[in-house]
Amino acid sequence: MSESLIHSDSGSSPTVLLIDDSQFVHRLLDARLRDESIELRSAADGRRGVELAREDPPALILLDLDMPVMDGFEALRELKDDPRTRDIPVIVLSGLNSSQDKVAAFDLGAVDFVTKPFELTELRARVRSSLRMYALLQMLAQKAQIDGLSELYNRQYFDTSLKGECERSMRHGQALSIAMIDIDHFKSINDTYGHPAGDSVISGVAKMITKQCRSIDTACRYGGEEFAIILPETGPVQAVQLCERIRVACEQLRWSRHPSRTVTVSIGIVGIGAGEGFSATPEAWVEAADRNLYSAKQAGRNRVKGTGIDGNTIDLAQAG
Ligand code: GH3
Ligand code: MG
Ligand code: MG
Repeated sequence: MSESLIHSDSGSSPTVLLIDDSQFVHRLLDARLRDESIELRSAADGRRGVELAREDPPALILLDLDMPVMDGFEALRELKDDPRTRDIPVIVLSGLNSSQDKVAAFDLGAVDFVTKPFELTELRARVRSSLRMYALLQMLAQKAQIDGLSELYNRQYFDTSLKGECERSMRHGQALSIAMIDIDHFKSINDTYGHPAGDSVISGVAKMITKQCRSIDTACRYGGEEFAIILPETGPVQAVQLCERIRVACEQLRWSRHPSRTVTVSIGIVGIGAGEGFSATPEAWVEAADRNLYSAKQAGRNRVKGTGIDGNTIDLAQAG
């Protein structure tokens, strides 16, 4: 690890939010942390600090205890009660140094307690160590959502996202569709060319799916050689159009390990248009899309079958 404070995943400098009513502390840290690779933001009381942390969560919070409007203990309680700010490490910087205050701050979730007046070199080391821990936790949390082979989101992430998108669509009457994609005769690719060739087909199809999707879509590996896409603000007609593009793009891919063998996919879609409303559970959405996938397989594979969540079939003439 380099001497400078570590960088966030995106390559930009991590943000540190200083919440303190002392202008002296703000000036001091601004001057002494200037050479470090961090972006320092400031708030002069607990209320404003919590607001700033919610608006744009920093990588670390330095929090004074004795402040006007909202003191540090109350601010810490609010930060730890809110899922948006719960995981941000908080270092308490305080003139209060009784064991009781320290215990109270740690019990509320502070990661460290630095007594004022502080030794700047030590504070910098503590800031560095907390940022390192935060970056590691974020990386682990991100990795836990990603499937290693396809580099798409995993099944667990799909389940959580679909639940959220169903709730959002129900509440706001927004369109929503999901697609289940299954590689055709995949077992025979494994059997003919070996599992490593099968693995590269899975990752190649995953890359092609990502390329065809918009940034708001969530493409996942549902399991084995099956993928699922959540398409927010997309009715079933547009979902069929997108999946038709995916189907054709898959057919056109060429594979270095088996150049003469094309790979195709079958796709089942279910969706709802804007303002239509539905009561189906996320499980019922997946079952409905699976039924359509099964029909696409039955109809001869390498095809797309889409319906509304009410069961009305969408055909490409409608989509076109
Ligand atoms: P269908 O057209 O009906 O979908 O037939 P299929 O052969 O694609 O379907 P089936 O469910 O019979 O076979 C899926 C195979 O996928 C079986 C399993 O061994 C293989 N598989 C599952 N996960 C992986 C993986 O990560 N890598 C590889 N290489 N194969 C996998
Ligand atoms: Mg399958
Ligand atoms: Mg299959």
